[in-house]
Amino acid sequence: MSTNATETTRFARSAEAFAEARAVMPGGVNSPVRAFRAVGGTPIFVDSGSGSRFTDLDGNSYIDYVLSWGPLILGHAHPRVVEATTAALRQGTSFGAPTVAETRLAELIVDRVPAVDMVRLVSSGTEATMSALRLARAATGRDKIVKFAGCYHGHGDMLLVQAGSGVATLGLPDSPGVPAGATQDTLVADYNDLSSVQALFDRYGDDIAGVIVEPVAGNMGMVTPADGFLDGLRTITTAHGAMLIIDEVMTGFRVAPGGAVALYGIEPDIVTFGKVVGGGFPLAAYAGKREVMEHVAPLGSMYQAGTLSGNPVATAAGIATLEILAEDGVWQGAADRAAQLIDGLRRAGQDAGIPLQANAVGTMAGIFFKGAPVTDYDTSALEDGGRYTAFFQGMLQRGFYFAPSRFEALFLSSAHSGADVATTVEAAADVLQAMAG
Ligand SMILES: *Cc1c(COP(=O)(O)O)cnc(C)c1O
Repeated sequence: MSTNATETTRFARSAEAFAEARAVMPGGVNSPVRAFRAVGGTPIFVDSGSGSRFTDLDGNSYIDYVLSWGPLILGHAHPRVVEATTAALRQGTSFGAPTVAETRLAELIVDRVPAVDMVRLVSSGTEATMSALRLARAATGRDKIVKFAGCYHGHGDMLLVQAGSGVATLGLPDSPGVPAGATQDTLVADYNDLSSVQALFDRYGDDIAGVIVEPVAGNMGMVTPADGFLDGLRTITTAHGAMLIIDEVMTGFRVAPGGAVALYGIEPDIVTFGKVVGGGFPLAAYAGKREVMEHVAPLGSMYQAGTLSGNPVATAAGIATLEILAEDGVWQGAADRAAQLIDGLRRAGQDAGIPLQANAVGTMAGIFFKGAPVTDYDTSALEDGGRYTAFFQGMLQRGFYFAPSRFEALFLSSAHSGADVATTVEAAADVLQAMAG
């Protein structure tokens, strides 16, 4: 049987659903990476999920290492999250008036995350980072922001700048529809390169409101911060009166129970959350030191609002998720599985003679099919000879769902068992041997 024939029958219902979807939605999806453009083939249409697995329309079952791109740290449809959200649902789905559940979630965040005194709930990670940057500008009275090439902070206009290469790039729009004016105050530095940040501060220091960074980058594959990088950002921003914004939308409650801020002992001014904090629902947050958050309306004059902000069903999911995550062994179990996966993949790569780098930080992981270390956008963007795509397709055929792009991280949940990971590693060894042969 040819690969194409296998694919046609195996994913027939998904292919049909995709054709129908493309007629009414651009590219057939509501977020571009879901369309499988980076890896080719038909995107898998999901029917249902439970624990570490989901089932597609054709009845194929997969062990899921995407987990909705990170939120599902307890796995799909965790019974207690389902119970909590169902109970909330019955009480009314939205009020646009305060509920005590919002305070409870804010307290949980303040409790878990050092250096955070106050929280504002919003509905997406994009909204959280846009608001955080507005806050940094409001609090400093300055306009310029520094971001890093290859870090992703959502699709806000001012953040959609060309990754560029080399040091001290001035932000040019990376998408039609983003006016040059929207990115004229965005400066781009190189991840893990403090000298590129220092160069920007030497030149624009008095005008820089803040630096926004993924503390562990997860949107150029997973790239870990070099020793001293995050501390160095704190030192430089403090020296110039600029804010340090740690974007924990992906890393929050994931790389450690208290997120990267706790793991690396960072003292940020503003922190953004999303993904895990909403337990699989549209909920995100920005938070920070009291004196910074006091700029937010109605306490302060920085305007930011949301009809569905603090939505009761989403809030219930967030509370349940953070509470369960704090129970003995839950977070650690997911982290242990991440280490097991990474270990196994590394060994399978070695056995097959394929260059494969695998790393994990807590419950988040990443692989690169490259010989040389990946430390920033330029090294991440280097071609891998199509090896990630081959690996992805081989794993998909065998019932393992990895991210459909080599620029994404992998995620583990407390629902992944040691046996789940062991079968994954076994399948990966087969796929890698086939790729080598
Ligand atoms: C996913 C992500 C965002 C954007 O969050 P959305 O909920 O998709 O808008 C922002 N920052 C980081 C680090 C992310 O991983």
